[in-house]
Amino acid sequence: MEIKFERYHLQSELLSPLQEFKRISVPTEIRVDPLTKRRSRIITWSLPSTEKFDFTEMASASKGCVFCPENVLHKTPKFIEEVAPEGRLQRGKAIGFPNLFPAGASGSVVVLCEEHFLPLNQFSPQTYEEGLSLSMEIVRRMIRFDPDLRYWQISQNFLLPGGSSILHPHLQVIGDPIPTNEMEWLMEASASYQEKNNTVYWKDLVETEKKLGERFITTQGHIHWFVPFAPIGFNEVCAWVENHPSILTLGEEELAILAKGIVSTLKYYDHKSLNSFNLAFYSIFDESSPLLLLRIISRTPFQPFYLNDCTFFEVLQSELTSNIYPEELCREIRPFFT
Ligand SMILES: [Zn+2]
Repeated sequence: MEIKFERYHLQSELLSPLQEFKRISVPTEIRVDPLTKRRSRIITWSLPSTEKFDFTEMASASKGCVFCPENVLHKTPKFIEEVAPEGRLQRGKAIGFPNLFPAGASGSVVVLCEEHFLPLNQFSPQTYEEGLSLSMEIVRRMIRFDPDLRYWQISQNFLLPGGSSILHPHLQVIGDPIPTNEMEWLMEASASYQEKNNTVYWKDLVETEKKLGERFITTQGHIHWFVPFAPIGFNEVCAWVENHPSILTLGEEELAILAKGIVSTLKYYDHKSLNSFNLAFYSIFDESSPLLLLRIISRTPFQPFYLNDCTFFEVLQSELTSNIYPEELCREIRPFFT
């Protein structure tokens, strides 16, 4: 089955005050996601680049937070006995416990490290390996407690632009008996593709992207890294995990690959003077189209005069924008994965 990459080139004519009122033509590209048919808009002139922000003052003013080593085992909630009689769970430096303010049926927090703040170029693969491994353990225990929890996300908001009020690096492990909108769109579109073509969309996508070579980053073990054709956020990087219907079947090798890829992406963001991001690892236990997919996007960097990157396009038109051509992003990020 041939995957269709549909795009529209738009041009806007104007007399530019930046070029002595010469007539110029500014391009915008609209891309349609081959699976979900959702449209994305690539606006390459938006979001001016910024200088690196110095977090020293912010980190020192907020140090000693509830996730810092001196507080985390005293001031955070404990799991109920049926889930974890030991109260909190640990893997290396990672510590897991229920979210005091859960956003679903099962909401947990995994504090990733002892450091209160880490710039993006200082996260280590080991930090994410431990964090993901502990997240898996939480999912395993929660499912044993409530088998209806089939829709899981291991997600991260990093820094205020990413929606995190706490600077201290942490993941959120959220499981529900009903899917999020995004999970449902992915499941329905994957199932319908599979019914029509008798093949798995993600397998076809990886094969196609490998042949095209423009957006494919690398394959490591069962994990395929790529830049999506129609991104749903800035500098989006994805990893599809093949042959694993859910997070629970992952072994140490897969966790190490995922952790390394996340860290490579964060190093690239840091290289571009970005400092905030969101990450989601979707683990969808669906009989007809199970899916294990990781997505990372950058957010506009924290800076003195912060510019929010959710405009009327995203919040009122459900049209997602990004500011770099995916092919260019892929070219730039590939060396970070070697
Ligand atoms: Zn802290």
